[in-house]
Amino acid sequence: MTAAGLSAVAVAHASLLNPVLSRTPTETARLTNAVPKPVAQPAAEDVLIAFEEPVPGRAIVSPFGLRQLPWEGNGRLHEGVDISADLGVPVIAVADGVIVEAGTKGGYGRFVAIRHAERLTTYYAHLGSIDANLKPGMTVKGGDPIGRIGSTGTSTGPHLHFEIRDAQKRPLDPSMFLGKAFAEAGDLPLDKAKRYSGRVRMAYVSFIPESKRALMDAKNNPSVVVIKRTTTDAQDLAEAERNLKGAQARAAAQAPKVDGLRELSIGPDGRPRAQLAL
Ligand SMILES: [Zn+2]
Repeated sequence: MTAAGLSAVAVAHASLLNPVLSRTPTETARLTNAVPKPVAQPAAEDVLIAFEEPVPGRAIVSPFGLRQLPWEGNGRLHEGVDISADLGVPVIAVADGVIVEAGTKGGYGRFVAIRHAERLTTYYAHLGSIDANLKPGMTVKGGDPIGRIGSTGTSTGPHLHFEIRDAQKRPLDPSMFLGKAFAEAGDLPLDKAKRYSGRVRMAYVSFIPESKRALMDAKNNPSVVVIKRTTTDAQDLAEAERNLKGAQARAAAQAPKVDGLRELSIGPDGRPRAQLAL
């Protein structure tokens, strides 16, 4: 019970002990004002939502935006940020909210999602462990531990993949929110944070997952489109084989969701839409 609650009970008892006591409105106001206020939560009334860093003090090693992984033929949207940290380092809820998911989710591995003010949702992926008492429906405060750093799901090493989604589940650039407080909904940079440059960054990856080795090999031996050439049957066969490999690699690149990456670079005509910075 809060201090204010205790005082209110004390005032109620005083009234019971003095049933004949009648107070003027002024006296009542004075007594009410005398009740100590609860210890103020820091600027709670002035702030709609304040974002902490999910792994305090650890840097973002891979930002939000178009990114190409070494085994991919083209760029895709990295829908969040990667924060590097050692296995077992605690991960915290970035803001007050309600747990909406806690479990395993495809390429995200061990995964937690938290719903916040203005229906913003934060995602925490590749966790090594999720706090045992964390259940959907439970409320958390910003700074509460939710799990620990791992490398579960489609991950190239221990890190946190962190996302912020808007009310329509569109990915937002987390760097525009982390470490910042917003007084009202209109202050949230929702439109700005949805945008990203058309430039594709080549991602540096220290470890190629076993499942991506075949794609890597296919990429290092790309098929060659020959416009006009006199060929032998053996050469045509070899060419067909190389093209088949390319088609397989493209199909494989389109199939899975990798580390929160959304396929967006291959258009309906089967050609890459994004300009590659090779
Ligand atoms: Zn990521």
